[in-house]
Amino acid sequence: MASNEEEEVHTFASLGVCEQLAEACDALGWKKPSAIQVQSIPLALEGRDLIGLAQTGSGKTAAFAIPILQALLEKPHPLFACVLSPTRELALQIAEQFEALGSGIGVKCAVVVGGIDMMAQAIALAKRPHVVVGTPGRLLDHLTNTKGFNLRMLKYLVLDEADRLLNMDFEQEIDEILKAIPRERKTYLFSATMTNKVAKLQRACLKNPAKVEVSSKYSTVDSLKQQYLFVPAKYKDCYLVYLLNELSGSTTMVFTRTCESTRRLSLILRNLGLDAIPISGQMSQPKRIGALNKFKAGERNILICTDVASRGLDIPSVDMVVNYDIPTNSKDYIHRVGRTARAGRSGLAVSLVTQYDVELYQRIEQLIGKKLPEFPSEQEEVLLLHERVNEAQRIATMKLREKEGNKKHNKKRGDGGDDDDDDDRRFTGSKNNKKLKRSKGR
Ligand code: AMP
Repeated sequence: MASNEEEEVHTFASLGVCEQLAEACDALGWKKPSAIQVQSIPLALEGRDLIGLAQTGSGKTAAFAIPILQALLEKPHPLFACVLSPTRELALQIAEQFEALGSGIGVKCAVVVGGIDMMAQAIALAKRPHVVVGTPGRLLDHLTNTKGFNLRMLKYLVLDEADRLLNMDFEQEIDEILKAIPRERKTYLFSATMTNKVAKLQRACLKNPAKVEVSSKYSTVDSLKQQYLFVPAKYKDCYLVYLLNELSGSTTMVFTRTCESTRRLSLILRNLGLDAIPISGQMSQPKRIGALNKFKAGERNILICTDVASRGLDIPSVDMVVNYDIPTNSKDYIHRVGRTARAGRSGLAVSLVTQYDVELYQRIEQLIGKKLPEFPSEQEEVLLLHERVNEAQRIATMKLREKEGNKKHNKKRGDGGDDDDDDDRRFTGSKNNKKLKRSKGR
């Protein structure tokens, strides 16, 4: 969270936050409001619509949750607020924050996201929660198909990560949802970036909004050390293992371009005795949550993910971000590296640049406006790992084929065969594990 002078002098109470909620913040260990909260909360409490430019990690969720909860306290009724989120994970985190802040006042939330049984969600909606958090597609599905559920009493609508909602082509669903809710309401629109589409959405659904902004558009924080590593494409896995080994013990997120790579890499790394776990859009929702929880709890220290996982996830202590694949969309670089060096901590981001990625990488340097230093490495030393990485790659390929075969077989038998993305350690029996471990850090 960026600190600025304003933050120093404010307390939640001085922003107009009522005692109960200020106490809830205190109980969460929040000593003072973050910059986005300082700016947003008083305006929201005045009854203004808000457009907020802020990224995950800025404290933006509480910036909209606190005013909503305060209004709910004054006039409690069911189906009071609805928050639209681009991803299931973010939706769950938003609901968690509402519940954490509202636990003392008995706030009920329901989460309606895809990939989870509609029926269970319909039952949760029938209990008439105060706050509904969901992804647009599934929410619309319930508005259309769940008997007795409507949002006609809604007082607050939040569009979170609006740029992302729009990039994911949720425009039509959002339009439909807007038709199903009262015009007389407050609307908060939060977005990491201000795009043309976001501006259009703002015009369509906000009334005379106050604009709040906390960080300049594409900046990365100073406590973040960014480096690149030039790697021949054929030795990319070897370099990844080298890097992880050099910084063993760090909590790391490794970003890949495809779901397939998350699985392949985590099999390779686990075979080499590293504690990796994949998370991607292809996994079932319970598996994604399970994987994330293992990572959060420290049972696994390397999370391999696609960009689906790169935003919205509240993982407070990532030491390092590795761009195994350079993102095709440069802005994703900012979101990815934003997973580390959060809340004033330091962090490291390393991008593996092959001979095919030079142009993409240069675009990123242009976007962030600086040339990054190289991560120091000796190719000879890296290639000492080559043989073992090769063997691990071979076993991973075999294992993936085996799984593919099993899945087909299960499908034929009608078992469905969910993706198994966190295998047990039967497979990880590399005898050479110890040799891989070196002293921590450099
Ligand atoms: P967000 O930007 O909403 O994803 O929030 C990022 C993280 O900051 C979450 O883990 C929040 O619990 C935490 N947080 C929110 N507000 C504060 C605050 N005022 N002080 C400290 N942490 C906060």
